[in-house]
Amino acid sequence: MIELDNLTMHYGDLKALQGLNLHIPQGEFFALLGPNGAGKTTAIKLLTGLMQPTAGAVRVCGHDIYADPMAAKAVMGYVPDVAVFYEKLTPHEFMHFIAALYEMNEAKTRESTADLFTRFDLHRHAGQRIENLSHGTRQRLAIASTLLHEPKVFVIDEPMVGLDPVHARTVKQELKARSQAGMTILMTTHLLNIAEELADRIGILHEGKLIALGTLAELKSRFEREGAKLEEIFLQMVAAAE
Ligand code: ATP
Repeated sequence: MIELDNLTMHYGDLKALQGLNLHIPQGEFFALLGPNGAGKTTAIKLLTGLMQPTAGAVRVCGHDIYADPMAAKAVMGYVPDVAVFYEKLTPHEFMHFIAALYEMNEAKTRESTADLFTRFDLHRHAGQRIENLSHGTRQRLAIASTLLHEPKVFVIDEPMVGLDPVHARTVKQELKARSQAGMTILMTTHLLNIAEELADRIGILHEGKLIALGTLAELKSRFEREGAKLEEIFLQMVAAAE
């Protein structure tokens, strides 16, 4: 569902991504990890068609993001680390605005909005202006609005930003259930416990290269010490790559 082939990005002399190859099958929950400056945001911007790469290809559900961006974007949803809204709108109005962009009909929009507002505890904020919402409520609205058109591929940068423990659990459960129902998820995070809890497969990016790729069990099997946590694996792999 997500295919990155030899994805390369240079900013002047800086090689932010150096030939990234990554194929993510349908229904996989994939966590892309890496230290600051590793190239995660660059990879996401290229995957979502926000930038053109120096070299390489991106396909989303078989659609080339640069040659056929409309087809690729129609089946994809992207939640950036800081979501952008029309601040004067209410969540209710914002959902209808997003639905119009995807040419959803009125009945489906109303039904899906009500369902997502229930799941993400947004009903009581539905009529408030977005500019007055808390950080965590904005994040839940960003996720709900990105799920509205039922994307097949869901890309999310730091999903837990600003969420309290109750809402963090809601978001984790919703995303996990959707990936189990067939939605493909690519998440970036610095929270290794979240990756450990949710991800089917993990990739660690370092200086624009993938230095580890596998299930948690596969990554752990490379370590001699029984019961190594992802944090220990991450720190050792990054240190070894320095
Ligand atoms: P973080 O965890 O800090 O968000 P990241 O893994 O997302 O980091 P990127 O933001 O992709 O890393 O940055 C990769 C490298 O490319 C960094 O060295 C960064 O300074 C550089 N970089 C990113 N965007 C640009 C740009 N527009 N122009 C020049 N250099 C850039």
